[in-house]
Amino acid sequence: MARVRLVAGNWKMHGSRGSNAALLDALVKENPPNCAVCVPFPYLAQAAERLRGSRIAWGAQNVSEHAQGAYTGEVSAAMVAEFGCRYVIVGHSERRQLYGETDAQAAAKFAAVKAAGMTPILCVGETLQERDAGKTEEVVGRQLGKVLEKNSFENSILAYEPVWAIGTGRTATPEQAQAVHAFLRKRVPAGTPILYGGSVKPQNAAAIFAMPDVDGGLIGGASLVAGDFLDIVKAAGT
Ligand code: PEP
Repeated sequence: MARVRLVAGNWKMHGSRGSNAALLDALVKENPPNCAVCVPFPYLAQAAERLRGSRIAWGAQNVSEHAQGAYTGEVSAAMVAEFGCRYVIVGHSERRQLYGETDAQAAAKFAAVKAAGMTPILCVGETLQERDAGKTEEVVGRQLGKVLEKNSFENSILAYEPVWAIGTGRTATPEQAQAVHAFLRKRVPAGTPILYGGSVKPQNAAAIFAMPDVDGGLIGGASLVAGDFLDIVKAAGT
């Protein structure tokens, strides 16, 4: 099976109804294939409405690992699926670092997303300290391994996001990304898209996407600027 290319934007906790409308309309005007935006929960309906009939998919950035119940402030996978949500980011390093999300929780969220019929985008990545200690493969292997213990990775997406490259302006070199992607590739079903994330910009996207095991990107900051995001989508050759 040919590997699908995908460029997914992660808006993080950014946006307003007005700025989202301008951004979404600019994307719809170009209407490129194989791209998606992952928006904050309150804007799921706005994304669904403005992207309806376009080629641009949309997703959420997190869901609860629980199906329902007394979990104040949480949002279940079934709830976002009701809106027609296609993708959910799981195990983003900001969830792991800022909210103490564990490998086991990320694995449970992955299962919840699949059970609701959506496609998880599982993020794995090492800190700078872990990289410097030569532990990159051990860390990403452990993060992915926890998910694989109880889940099939069929119809799922993997994103390699070195923590030291997220929002820092520091990008992995294409060769560094390729080495980790090749390592991960051996552990997931053939055809699994593996995205790179970490300060991807229009200036560096083409070189990273040219690597044989890089199938696209997960884009944070640059996905908030329509022109930059569209240039990155183009660089993926989608
Ligand atoms: C991300 O949030 O997944 C990300 C890669 O962010 P940035 O592109 O801003 O580094």
